[in-house]
Order: sequence, then C-alpha cells, then structure tokens
Amino acid sequence: MNSCETPSTTLNAPLSELRGVGSRLYEKLLRLGLRTIEDLLFTLPIRYEDRRHFTSISQLKPGESGQFHGQILSADEVAVGRGRKKLYEVVVSDNSGQILLKWFHYRREWMKKNYLPGRNIQVYGEVKIFSGHREILHPEVEFRTTGNSDQRILPIYPLTEGLSQKQLRSFCQQAVSQYADQIPTHIPAALLEKRHLLPLNEAVLHCHCPPNNSDFGILQQGRDRARTTLIYDEFFYLQLGLALRHRGVQLEQGRAFTLEHRFTQPLAKALPFRLTHAQKRVLGEIKLDMLSPHPMNRLIQGDVGSGKTIVALMAALIAIENGAQSAVLAPTEILAEQHFHQFHHWLTLLGLNSALLTGSTTKPERQELLQQLKQGDLHLLVGTHAVLQNDVEFHDLGLVIIDEQHRFGVQQRQQLRKKGRHPDTLVMTATPIPRTLSLTLYGDLSMSIIDELPPGRTPVTTRIVRKHQRDQLIEFVKQQLDKGHQVYFVYPLVEQSEHSDLQAATDAFKSLQNALGDSYRGGLLHGRLHARDKEAVMQLFKQGELDYLVATTVIEVGIDIPNASVMVIEHAERFGLAQLHQLRGRVGRGAAKSYCLLVQSDQCSEEGRKRLKIMEGSNDGFVIAESDLELRGPGEFLGTRQAGIENFRVANLLHDADILELAREDALELALQADFLTAPCYAGLRHTLQQRWGTRLELASVG
Ligand code: ADP
Ligand code: MG
Repeated sequence: MNSCETPSTTLNAPLSELRGVGSRLYEKLLRLGLRTIEDLLFTLPIRYEDRRHFTSISQLKPGESGQFHGQILSADEVAVGRGRKKLYEVVVSDNSGQILLKWFHYRREWMKKNYLPGRNIQVYGEVKIFSGHREILHPEVEFRTTGNSDQRILPIYPLTEGLSQKQLRSFCQQAVSQYADQIPTHIPAALLEKRHLLPLNEAVLHCHCPPNNSDFGILQQGRDRARTTLIYDEFFYLQLGLALRHRGVQLEQGRAFTLEHRFTQPLAKALPFRLTHAQKRVLGEIKLDMLSPHPMNRLIQGDVGSGKTIVALMAALIAIENGAQSAVLAPTEILAEQHFHQFHHWLTLLGLNSALLTGSTTKPERQELLQQLKQGDLHLLVGTHAVLQNDVEFHDLGLVIIDEQHRFGVQQRQQLRKKGRHPDTLVMTATPIPRTLSLTLYGDLSMSIIDELPPGRTPVTTRIVRKHQRDQLIEFVKQQLDKGHQVYFVYPLVEQSEHSDLQAATDAFKSLQNALGDSYRGGLLHGRLHARDKEAVMQLFKQGELDYLVATTVIEVGIDIPNASVMVIEHAERFGLAQLHQLRGRVGRGAAKSYCLLVQSDQCSEEGRKRLKIMEGSNDGFVIAESDLELRGPGEFLGTRQAGIENFRVANLLHDADILELAREDALELALQADFLTAPCYAGLRHTLQQRWGTRLELASVG
C-alpha cells in the first residue's frame, strides 16, 4: 500500500463542512447514512426535470409538465363545498391564454403579500384538467421579471425524510462545485476511451448538473455517459476484486490430471442413457479445468434432476484414473446417503471402492474406514460435516465435490481442500440464480450451467387450487394414494413461537387424517423434532412405510423419492418463488405423472397471486429465478443469502446488466495482466480496490 498516495482527506470531510449544515441538519444527514462529502457526491438524482424550455400558456398540455412566464390576473382565497375547506386560486395569463393555479396548503398571509395582480411570475408544474379547464396544483413559482437566466435541467433527488428537495439540491450543488474536482480517476484511460466513459470527477459533475445540451430522454433513462461511467466504475471494482480472488486460486499450484479413459469410458458405456448436450458441455468445461495445472474452482448450476450427479461422478473418475481420491460433501445425512447410493452403485460396477461417513457411522466402522482412506484403498468418500474432522486423512485427495454449496461456508470449503494437495473443487447447486446475480455473488468461481433436462421427463403439472375446491383436492389425493403413490403436504412455518408451530402442525395433521380417513398412513414432520427424528420420519416415508407426509418444516433439497407424485403446498402464497420451485422439485422424479397443487388462501395478495401464476406457467428454474428477481429486486431476492451485495451506490443489477458485462470483461482482462499487482501505474487502482473491498478481498498480495 505504501506506494500509493494517501487518500484524499477532503472528500472524507464531514458534511458539517458545508455552508448551511448545522449540527441538527448534520444529525439528520447522518441518520440517512450521509456522513462525508463523498457520500453526498454519490447521492445521485433519481430523475431530472427539463426546465430548459418555456411554452406559451395556450400550448400547455394536460398530463404533461410545463414551464411558462405569465402575469397574475387575479389571486384570492376561495371556499369550496359548504365553505369549511378553503383553497387559494391564482389566474395567470400571457398573450396566448390563461390558466388556473391552485393551492390546498398555503400560508395565507404570505400568499396575500406575494401574489399580487399584475405581477410577473415564472411557473412550473403538471397540467391537469378539472371540470373542463386546465389547472396546475401546487406549482413551483418564481417571482422574477427577467426570464431566461435559470433555464436548465433540474436534478430531482430521492426525497429523504426531513430534508426538502431544495435543501438537498443546494447541498449537492455546493459539494459538487467545491469538491467534485478532487475525485480521482484510477480506471486506466484506455478503458475509459474504449467504453466511451468520462473521468470520474466530470461524471459526478454531470450527473448533478447535466449540461444544457444533454439528450433529455437518455438522461432520464440513466443511460448518459456520466451515469454510465459511475455505474461502470462501481461494477468494475467489484469485478476486479472477484477476478483477483479467482486469479489468486488460479495462480496457486495445482495438479494437472490427464485423461486416461480407463473408468470414464466404461461408465459411459454402462449408463442406460446418453448424456444430454448440456451435460456434455459442462463435462467438457470441467475436463479443461482438471487438465490445467491450476486448481479448479467451478460451480455447476442446474435444476433438480438435470443430471449434475452423473457429471460429478465423471469428474471423480478422472481423478481416480490419475491415482487420486475424491470426496463428496452433502449437507445432511439423508442427502449424503442418497449420493452414496448413486456413486457406490457405479463405482462398484467399475471395481472401485467407496464409503459413507456421517455422524451415525459406528466407531469400529469409522476406524476401519479411516484406515482404508489413509492407505488409499478407498477411491471415493461421501459424507456430511463428519468428513471435515481432523482425524479424517486422505492418502491423496484430488477432487472435492460439494453439494448444495450455500450451506457450506468458504471456510469449510477451505478446510476440506486442505486435506489434499491443491485439489480441484466442484460445487453443485440446484438453486438457479440469474446471471447478473451469479456474476456478482460467485464471480470468483467459474460457472457451468446445465440448462436442459434429460429427455422423456413428463414435466410436473402445476395447478392453483382455491379454498372452495378443497373437497376435489382431497378426492384427487385419495386417487393418487390408491394408485400406490405417495403425497407431500407442506405448510408454511408459523413464526410466532415454537409452541404455536407445534400446535398448528398437529392441527393440520389431524384435520388431514380426518379428511383422508384411516386407510392411509401419514407422518408428521415439524420444526420441534430433533434432527435425528426428522430423518427417521423421512426414512419411513422413503421406504414407503408412510403414504403421505405432512411437513411444517423444510424438506431437504435434493431428497429423492421417485414414488411421490403429488406435492400439495398449503398457503402457497406465503412461500417465495425459489422455495416453491424447490418444493415442486421433490416430485416428478419417477415414471409417474406428477402434480404440484398450490393452495391459495382467500387473503392472498396481488403479488402472491403473481408468484403462483409464474409457478403455473413455468417449470424452468432459471425462468423462475429471473421472474423472482424482477418481482422482488436484488436485495430481497438475495435476502440472507449474501447481505451487502446489493449495496451499490449507483448501479442497479436489474437495470444495468449490460454495463456489468462490459465491466466484467474489462476487469478480467486487467486482472490477468502479469504485472497488475506490481506495476506503479496501477497503484491508485489497487488502492481504491483495497478501500472498496476492505477485508473481503483477503489478498495479502494486493498492494
Ligand atoms: P441432479 O443431481 O441434477 O438433481 P441427478 O444427477 O440426480 O440430477 O439425475 C436425476 C436422475 O436423472 C437420475 O436418476 C439420473 O440417473 C438420471 N439422469 C441423469 N442424466 C441423464 C440423462 N442424460 N438421460 C437420462 N437420465 C439421466
Ligand atoms: Mg442431486
């Protein structure tokens, strides 16, 4: 860091430095999160008003905002209705016509003193029609006789509690004229030129005070050079940080596997199906990574059932062909078991050894397993967190496969990787994320997407069910049960207390038992059950000992019970789209035609209805994720998944995706330059990067 200039202190100066900001206003600004001059400089207008042009009164159009000069004809307070309400009316005219100005809120004395017949005023406001006549409610008025001095584009700031538009505007203008010059630009000039951007100081200036010759339409869309520059700048540093993290891993020593085909080919022959195009493409991407001398760090996104596991198995075989071991990590015992079945089946066929390690593995079993693992007799180990324990040692761990990565932290990923010599890492997730978001969330991982389901699947039929259709619903469920299928009933969590949750769960279960009758066996899964008991209930359901399952708690993502053909989701509108999609993925895994029934309550909101409609309309996780993002915006969409990522000052992930792509491309290219971390010309850039990322960068080497 020493090589950089010290950060400019004036931009860091508190807002109390500004004229007119006393201690009370300063407190107010602080509460709005505005502390420094810089904070204010980057508080950009949300829109603009075009005050460059004046029209004649006759040309003012209803429904549009207009600006004009005129002379006051009359001004008076008038009573409306039976005289209890009052308003102030002013009639203004020019040589083309006249118009009425109206105020409902005003200070009478002040109005009387200022709105004098004969006086010339300048007016701005939106024209409306009221009983056949044009009028403007609460216009902005300036008392001046000389006209055109103030023609310009006026910035409108986000209205912030307790601050008037005028105040905020005046502070911003002050800050811009005194301080904007000091904003340094560290993005290389070549990039600015290539992307047609402005130096940062000019960009800030132009956002607050757009030049009079601006294209107003483009300005209003936020697509002018100035704003584009600021958006780009924000994305650029984010992507640069991610790219460096990525490079950090890439530059690490890794191992270059070779393709031996000894096990992969026999597997391909043994599989009862052919890989889909998407699976082949992703496998190709994985192979390139595994053959390179740097560690792989790749995320596979793919809908439930898209065939991620087979792809992971192929990757494991490549490692095994090279004499290395693989580890598969799953978030719960039941998922680990499920994976183990699949892996074990194929590995055994190929004459390879695999084992399962969870919290339930008995001591003697564990002892023996650890022994074999250390000696290299085990080719692949599947397990839960239990695999992370210190005494679990591999002979030579070459590939780490992690399922449902959002449950595992970066640290746990690291912990597992440390058990090998620079192993490759493959992360799998069944929670699709729109591209703009994955670029910001997982920009440090390479991304593979399986966007195709294996052929021959009959998509799950989704229907919204209203309350009055309850009897039909129960009848339908009975039919399915009679065919030997199994059914899920899912209820939203009751959040008030654990006790009421239990109560609600028990009530729901009882009423279903009543409705369905004694001939079917039901199980109850609720939040107060111990993890072990939950798994026991799931096991019973999986083994077919239960016909239906009532759940008021999360059913594991990825649970595979092919015989379950119906998913009933009660109060469906209370679930988010991602959750609904995940739940629906629990059915449609076998040969039977499957159904997802979304029970909509009568109190369902408009947004809730929209969500359910989206579910009815699509089975594609990516389509649903995009709609979800649009409906809720990035902040809510990500929720707890990654707090802080939506904290862009200027940029908006939904609106500015195109700029994100450009910034990413440029950042990646720059980060790959061999001298990026050392060249003096990038010192300012590196410094800004460090400031923006703070400790999150975790790159001691940036300086
Ligand atoms: P995911 O892990 O993505 O949810 P899986 O790998 O578990 O999906 O695959 C789901 C089911 O589809 C498995 O039974 C698997 O054997 C099968 N499958 C995988 N790939 C194909 C394919 N290309 N064609 C047909 N079936 C496939
Ligand atoms: Mg799976």
